[in-house]
Parts: sequence; structure tokens; C-alpha cells
Amino acid sequence: MIELRDVTKVYAGGVRALGGVSLRIEPGELVAIVGPSGSGKSTMLNVLGTLDRPTSGTVRIDRYDVARLSDAGLSALRASRIGFVFQQFHLAAGVRAIDNVADGLLYSGLRLSARRQHAAAALERVGLGHRLRHEPHELSGGERQRVAVARAVVGEPAVLLADEPTGALDSASGAGVMQLLRDLNTTGTTVIVITHDRDIAATFPHQLHLRDGHLSEEHHP
Ligand code: ADP
Repeated sequence: MIELRDVTKVYAGGVRALGGVSLRIEPGELVAIVGPSGSGKSTMLNVLGTLDRPTSGTVRIDRYDVARLSDAGLSALRASRIGFVFQQFHLAAGVRAIDNVADGLLYSGLRLSARRQHAAAALERVGLGHRLRHEPHELSGGERQRVAVARAVVGEPAVLLADEPTGALDSASGAGVMQLLRDLNTTGTTVIVITHDRDIAATFPHQLHLRDGHLSEEHHP
């Protein structure tokens, strides 16, 4: 499903953010990528999410070799296969939850009415069926993150990539969002969570520990 081989990322100025990383993530896995600030997590997220290309090495997503895809091909792969969740939610202000989620289907070719139908179902799925018409400022942090999760999964991506998804939440809302991600994983979505929180990572069956751009793995079947 996702395979990295000897991936390096060297930024202009010579910072080696990834120093030759190899890994495999199988369909349906629940994976934590954990490491302190500056260890290469964001770089890893960008490479896994096809938002950035590595300096060297191979990245395969769904058997596609990222290096062989054009930028347009990469965008299409990303839009159809990968859902993103960010620490700061990234919802559109002044836009109702249902339309924030429907925007996750902008590139699907579906009509607006169909996009809204799918969006309502996705919001139902994350426990927000009663908040369809609320705007972000009328929702709690935990609810906003659930809207963001609904937007990420409305197109039924194979992979959900979550970057510090509980970082802006109090611990109770954070635990609720983590449980939601686990539930989505149980129904078949591959879920990858990036975190600096070792306690969160410790509960994951597959842990990738980053330090100075190098990886060590732990499996807990
Ligand atoms: P983390 O997300 O774990 O904090 P990053 O992937 O952001 O780690 O950063 C890894 C290293 O790469 C750090 O030394 C950081 O300063 C450097 N870095 C990240 N992005 C850039 C960039 N766009 N240009 C130059 N250096 C960068």
C-alpha cells in the first residue's frame, strides 16, 4: 500500500531531514509516527502524503511510483486516495459544517446535491448529525476536529494521514478524536497518526520512531 525505500530529504541549505528511511505500511494498518520536534515528522508527512517529493529513494503509494507521476497525476492520486487531518483543523470560516465536508468532494465530479448528501452521511458517521448547519465558530474544538475528519474521509480515501490531530484539544476531546480514528481504522481505512506524544503512540500496534531523520520500528500485534 505504502512503501518507502531509502528515502532521503535534503532541504536547501543542506539540512538532511530524512536520512535514508525505508518502511512498509499495509492496507488497514493503524500506525503512529512519533518523534520529538525537528526529528522529521512533518517532512515524513509531506512525503507520505505526496505533498513533497523526496531528494532520493522511492515512494510507492498504491503501487504507483511517485517519481513517475506528473504533478497533475500526483494531485489526482492524493485527491482520490489520501485524506488529511491537521492540528489546527483548517476548516473554512463562515461555512457550515455540511459544506466544509462537501468541499472534500470538490474534485470528485459529483454534483453539489450529491456532495452534500455524502457530507451529511460523513458527519453522521463522526457523531455530528445534529450539527450540519453549524459554522466552525459555533462548534467546540473537538467538534471542529470531527468535522475535519468527516471532510478527510467523505471521499472514502484508502489512507487517512493525521498530523498532531489532538494537539489543539483538551484531553477529553482529544481522546474522543483518537477513538474516532480507531473506529475508522476498524472499518478498513489505513490510519497514520503523526504525534510527538509518546503516550498516544504507545497504544498503536505499529509505531515508527523518528530521531534526526532516522527510523526505528516497533510492532505490537
Ligand atoms: P518535525 O515535524 O519532527 O518537527 P521537520 O520535518 O519539520 O520535523 O524538520 C526536520 C528538520 O528539517 C529540521 O531540522 C528542520 O529545521 C528542517 N526543515 C524542515 N522544513 C524545512 C524547509 N522547508 N527548509 C529547510 N529546512 C527545513
